[in-house]
Amino acid sequence: MNKVILIKYGELTTKKGNRNFFVNTLYNNIKNKLKNYNVKIFKDISRMYIEFEEEELDSIKKIIDHIFGIHMYHIATIVDTNIDSIKKELLEILKTKNFESFKIETKRSDKSFPYKSTELNPLLGTYILKNIGNIKVDVHNPDILITIEIRQYHSYIYTNGYKGCGGYPSGVQNKAMLMLSGGIDSPVAGYLAMKRGIKLDAVYFEAIPHTSLEARNKVIELTKKLAKYTDEINLHIVNFTKIQEEIYKKAKSSYCITIMRRMMYRIMEELAIKNHALAIVNGESVGQVASQTLTSMNVINSVTNMPILRPVACLDKLEIIDIARKIDTYEISILPYEDCCTIFVPKHPVINPKEDECIKMEEKINYEEMITEAVESVYTLKITDEVSKKFEKFL
Ligand code: ATP
Ligand code: MG
Repeated sequence: MNKVILIKYGELTTKKGNRNFFVNTLYNNIKNKLKNYNVKIFKDISRMYIEFEEEELDSIKKIIDHIFGIHMYHIATIVDTNIDSIKKELLEILKTKNFESFKIETKRSDKSFPYKSTELNPLLGTYILKNIGNIKVDVHNPDILITIEIRQYHSYIYTNGYKGCGGYPSGVQNKAMLMLSGGIDSPVAGYLAMKRGIKLDAVYFEAIPHTSLEARNKVIELTKKLAKYTDEINLHIVNFTKIQEEIYKKAKSSYCITIMRRMMYRIMEELAIKNHALAIVNGESVGQVASQTLTSMNVINSVTNMPILRPVACLDKLEIIDIARKIDTYEISILPYEDCCTIFVPKHPVINPKEDECIKMEEKINYEEMITEAVESVYTLKITDEVSKKFEKFL
């Protein structure tokens, strides 16, 4: 096989001091994701190369499209580093393509090669023009950009490539806990956090029998979609029924959502500590609902000192939906099952809650014990992008 997948790193190459760590993490992630394929992976400081079996290429591409840390990738042809082999292979490659204009770009890392890049471009360009009819050179907007990377023994020739999903490799940051509801926003928030290299555990609050198993299933399906971008995600399911019922019995109806969210944050903090996570991630977006005004966020946030990442805080709903479609969570998110935030929604939730009011109402609820109980009774599923075997047992 004289072809390889040639991978170009994204942003990580700017992190000089950490470069090896980033490259090694990306290498291990790719290796792990492709463990069931017949591939060989090689890395250097600026590129990774994957030798593959032709019939597996389509499935491998689908996997690579979900690996963070990859900026671009190309299917490159390997040739011996001599001008005749390069010319011959160039024609072979271009014969299979349909184009009217082209540009050649050569990168010469082997300085012993007898031609400089500035000499090679016109030399090869002229050769192509002579051998293929009805085409022209266009240096500004070519149909095909042909890149030739000259190395000591082998050179790589490739044309237009595929955009990778960018970001940092999964796992270059510590873990965070994602509050994952069945809505549109939180899976997008999770995706954006993972894109920064953060490892995620997900937490879902349910209030059975007020919420259904279908609602839980929806969250499992969403977790599977997110797991495509990493190896596996622990999904912690919190039984929130008792706490929620107590809130609705004891608190003023306009404050129920505010207090409910303070309880969620308290549980999140405990779960984060228990699972060695350093931040909480959620899908709050400024101004979207009453509990997401800046006043509400302050009052809700004040129950924890843990950093809260809100990746979609400043995005419009339509921008969030665009990402949800791209990561294939949108169709699942719009399924109509009730979530514990949408049951018992008060007619007039408070927009500017007061913290001392919350504290007064919370004093009537024996919440500390209930929180401990909720944390201790958490059920954890290990979700991969395929199936959760444990989940079948759970149902
Ligand atoms: P939507 O897309 O409809 O806004 P949402 O999931 O964003 O759905 P919100 O009520 O806006 O719902 O909640 C804000 C954030 O709080 C969510 O993005 C999510 O991170 C977290 N959250 C809400 N409900 C739950 C839940 N049942 N379990 C876990 N996290 C939740
Ligand atoms: Mg929302």
